[in-house]
Amino acid sequence: MKPVRFDYAAAPDAATACSLLTQSVAAKPIAGGQSLGPMLNLRLVRPDALVDISRASDLRGVRDEGNAIVYGAAVTHAEIEDGAVPDATPGWLASVARRIAYRAVRNRGTIGGSLAHADPAADWVNVLTALDASVVLTRSLGTRTVALAEFFTGPFATVLAHDEIVTGVRVPKRGAAARWGYWKFCLKVGDFAKASAAVLIDPERGETRILLGAIEKPPILLSDASAILAGRMPLAAVVTDVAPHLSYDSHALHVAALRRAIALATASGEVAA
Ligand SMILES: Cc1cc2nc3c(=O)[nH]c(=O)nc-3n(C[C@H](O)[C@H](O)[C@H](O)COP(=O)(O)OP(=O)(O)OC[C@H]3O[C@@H](n4cnc5c(N)ncnc54)[C@H](O)[C@@H]3O)c2cc1C
Repeated sequence: MKPVRFDYAAAPDAATACSLLTQSVAAKPIAGGQSLGPMLNLRLVRPDALVDISRASDLRGVRDEGNAIVYGAAVTHAEIEDGAVPDATPGWLASVARRIAYRAVRNRGTIGGSLAHADPAADWVNVLTALDASVVLTRSLGTRTVALAEFFTGPFATVLAHDEIVTGVRVPKRGAAARWGYWKFCLKVGDFAKASAAVLIDPERGETRILLGAIEKPPILLSDASAILAGRMPLAAVVTDVAPHLSYDSHALHVAALRRAIALATASGEVAA
C-alpha cells in the first residue's frame, strides 16, 4: 500500500515545527521515519501534513547541564553509538545504541522519535526510564519537563499533545561507581525485544532502580528494588506480581532477563532464583 496524500514541510527549528503542527490536528512530526514510514505505508496513520524535524538545528545539539546531559530529540541512535555526542553514562548508552536494530535504522532513527513512538519493546523507552531520564516537551504555548516514568501512558501512547514535540531528552550523569545491567531477549539480531530488564545501582546518588520492559504496557519500575537485589524476593513471584497476564513462555523470558540484568549489575554472575 501507499500513504494517503499529505503536505510536507521541513522545519528549520523547533518553534517552526510547533507552529506548523498547530495548523491541523491531523498533522504529525516525522523524525527518522523508521517507525512512521511503515505506518504511513500501511495507512495505520493518515496525516494531512508531515512536519519534518530531523534537520531542525536546535533538535540536533547536545547540552551539558553539569549533573545531566540533554540530548536534542533528533540525535540519532548512530550518533550515540559512534560517540559523536557525549555519553551521560560510563558507555552504557553507546552499548545500548549499537544493539538497536541494524545500522541503516540507527543512521536515521532518533532518540526523541523512539520515545514519542513509545513501543513497549523499544530500547530507549526502557533503558532511559531505568536511568531516570526525563523529556523536554515543547509546544507554541510553552515548555514542560516530564519524567519518563510519567511520560508513557500505555503501549504506543504518551502524554504528548498533538501540537507538542519532544525537544530534548535529559539523562542524569552516572559516575564510575554506578553499576548497570541491561538484558533483552530477541528472536534474532535486529528484532525488537520479547523481554527486557534493566538494573541501575548508583551509590553516589543513592538510587537503585529495577525495570521490566517489553510487556504490553509502559515500562514497569519495580518497588522493593533493594530486597530484590538482596535475593529476598523470588524473581518469578516478582514478575507474576507486576505482570500476571503473561504467558508461561513470556513469564519465563522476563524472569531470565531480570536475572541476567541483576547479574550484570552486581557482577556476581548469578542471583537467587
Ligand atoms: C526494521 C526495524 C527494526 C527496529 N528495531 C528496533 C529495536 O530493536 N529497538 C528499538 O528500540 N527500536 C527499533 N526500531 C525502531 C527505531 O529505533 C526507530 O528509530 C524509532 O522507533 C523511531 O524513531 P524515528 O526517529 O524513526 O521516529 P519516526 O518514525 O519519524 O516517528 C515515530 C513516531 O514518533 C513521532 N515523533 C518523532 N519524533 C518526535 C518528536 N521529537 N516529538 C514528538 N513526536 C515525535 C512521529 O510523529 C511518529 O508518531 C526498529 C525499526 C525498524 C524499521
